[in-house]
Amino acid sequence: MKSKMKTAVIGAGASGIMAAVTAAKYGAEVTLFERDQRVGKKILSTGNGKCNLGNLNFSMEQYYCGDQEKLHKMFRVFSVWDTMSFFESIGLMIKNKNGYLYPYSEQASAVLDVLRMELERMKVEVITQTGITGAAYHPEREEFELQDDCGRNYTFSRVIIACGSPASLKKGEGMTGYELAAGFGHEIRPVVPGLVQLESDESFVKALAGVRCQAAVRLLVDRKEAAFEKGEVQFTAYGISGIPVFQFSRIAAYALKEGKDVRVLVDFFPDQEDKAFRYMNRLRYESQMDKTLEAYLTGTLHKKINMMMIKQAGLKPGMKAKDAGWHKIAELMQGCRNLSIHISGDHAAQNAQVCAGGVDLEQVDTELESALVKGLYFAGEVLDVDGKCGGYNLQWAWTSGYIAGRNAAGSSTREIAETKEDMPPKDQVEC
Ligand SMILES: Cc1cc2nc3c(=O)[nH]c(=O)nc-3n(C[C@H](O)[C@H](O)[C@H](O)COP(=O)(O)OP(=O)(O)OC[C@H]3O[C@@H](n4cnc5c(N)ncnc54)[C@H](O)[C@@H]3O)c2cc1C
Repeated sequence: MKSKMKTAVIGAGASGIMAAVTAAKYGAEVTLFERDQRVGKKILSTGNGKCNLGNLNFSMEQYYCGDQEKLHKMFRVFSVWDTMSFFESIGLMIKNKNGYLYPYSEQASAVLDVLRMELERMKVEVITQTGITGAAYHPEREEFELQDDCGRNYTFSRVIIACGSPASLKKGEGMTGYELAAGFGHEIRPVVPGLVQLESDESFVKALAGVRCQAAVRLLVDRKEAAFEKGEVQFTAYGISGIPVFQFSRIAAYALKEGKDVRVLVDFFPDQEDKAFRYMNRLRYESQMDKTLEAYLTGTLHKKINMMMIKQAGLKPGMKAKDAGWHKIAELMQGCRNLSIHISGDHAAQNAQVCAGGVDLEQVDTELESALVKGLYFAGEVLDVDGKCGGYNLQWAWTSGYIAGRNAAGSSTREIAETKEDMPPKDQVEC
């Protein structure tokens, strides 16, 4: 198991730190390069500062990537249970909230602290404020040569690229991982923001700014339903946000990039059965029709939604419901179940939690080694794998970091990927 493989990890985010401690554990001599002043900065902002580090409700449907089977094999090697064991083994108490895993203290800094202590314990050499700008492989020497932003050169026998994505960074930052990979001949799948707000050019959306409400949302791409989600939707001055929107934003982002027509249909009464809803509306009309429309809708949805819907229906808030008539009222109420919002853009990588796209999985094996250059590995978001909200992206960072680190150190995970059983269903496991 001991290898003393001289291994460089480029990028000290969640996946890079995991790769570094794992490679060191399996005997490699590890150097971890970080462009920033500190390691693991992004971890601190995860889960609103609480760090949702994994999820027991794991399933492959939570992930997007070009090769689900390959990804599935990798999650067999290092599953959410392995994530829990790993963190517990380095001193982190974990809290399980309906399957969502958090540090017990609900402080993301606790996750980073135990990881930093582990880097120290495993004697990983950490070099901060050093961005790697160039990388080349010399087959005759079987060596990689790295160059940093101060022109210094380093040689290694293994390299792990774990540079993350442009998500949540300043415009133009966060591309070096893809550039280094492309320099080795790797195909980079188009990178778009995932888990991001969507922008709309509809003027009525501005009128809803600040509204938060439960809704069912359908994503339509070229008029066909592409995704459906339920939950708390938030309206902003530029468009719509909230977890349900985040969940399908990457589909919208790709469709927008391809110039397709993208719309979101909002149902503000997601829990109402159609027939009962119509019946209830009729009763309401019979008893409230003498009220002005504004008063008529008071007590239903958020006031801003009501006013916007009255306007959208071409009516006036001050007119009596009975003057509008039952059919118009029924149409207005039905409109609340089917508000069509044109989407004009995604809210950019700078505001995203993750980016979709990246290094094509086709060109790496289940050990996360490059199919083009032996000894070159990848981990984390730089790869073309992205997950939904709920701890799935950090799970990928831990899984891929573990696999890349262990294999780079010379201890293969291939057999585990092929033979290990799937995780037991949640209800069969005590935790
Ligand atoms: C606000 C926010 C909240 C989130 N919340 C959650 C959550 O609760 N749960 C969840 O699962 N996921 C969450 N995510 C997503 C999750 O944080 C990422 O998917 C994960 O951190 C990706 O890890 P990574 O190691 O691949 O990349 P990163 O964490 O981005 O790390 C890459 C590192 O590489 C460094 N680097 C880049 N290029 C170079 C270079 N050339 N040389 C040296 N260093 C370099 C960067 O400075 C960075 O430190 C959230 C993301 C954001 C932005």
